[in-house]
Amino acid sequence: MKLSPQQQEELLELATLSRALKHNSHIEPEPSEEHKELARLVDERERMAQAASSAQLAVDDMELEIARIQADETKLRRREADDKRQLGASIDRETRKDLEHDLYSVKSRIADLMSELQEAHNQIHALRNNVAVHGAHLSELDRKIELASRAADAAPTAWSLQEKHERIAHLRATLPHDSVALFDQSFAENGVGVAKFNGRSCSGCFITLPPVEIAKIRQTPADELAQCPDCNSYLVR
Ligand SMILES: [Zn+2]
Repeated sequence: MKLSPQQQEELLELATLSRALKHNSHIEPEPSEEHKELARLVDERERMAQAASSAQLAVDDMELEIARIQADETKLRRREADDKRQLGASIDRETRKDLEHDLYSVKSRIADLMSELQEAHNQIHALRNNVAVHGAHLSELDRKIELASRAADAAPTAWSLQEKHERIAHLRATLPHDSVALFDQSFAENGVGVAKFNGRSCSGCFITLPPVEIAKIRQTPADELAQCPDCNSYLVR
């Protein structure tokens, strides 16, 4: 194959890029550190959102519990007032005894409810605090995710693949058609096509060539590509 030394370098670049792309299409590209960090933060946010919703649920439950205690208290206060009113009106001994007994038990139940209510208020205070702490963590994570997602967008992985495609298209369009055709043929045969010759061995098959073959390659004119006697790749010196 005849080609200027400059174009030989470009053909070698085309071969190297084509191999890299062929490799990429089989192996899932490794996500960048930025993408890994973003995924980690999104996971963490999901766990935090679940914890926050549990915390809110605990507050809701405790609010229902407080409402229940207050409803019971209202009923008992009404009954207490009722007992007192009847006591004021009644003179029957047995009736008064029953009413006093009921009033005593009502008062004692109200006292129990009041201590339950105090306990519930203490708990809801701690639970609301917990909701606020989770909310602050979520906002902090949202801020971090925003930054991480900008960093991930700027990470090179995705567009370096596109850059490879663009460079390949450019090289194929600007190099002589017959050279590209010969490269394609050789690339299809051995998956290398064009390889660097380092003076002793071919970087396509890594075989160290016998001195006679090395001498032949060295004698090839500079604007011509010799072929590796082992893998048939075109050699760029
Ligand atoms: Zn070779």
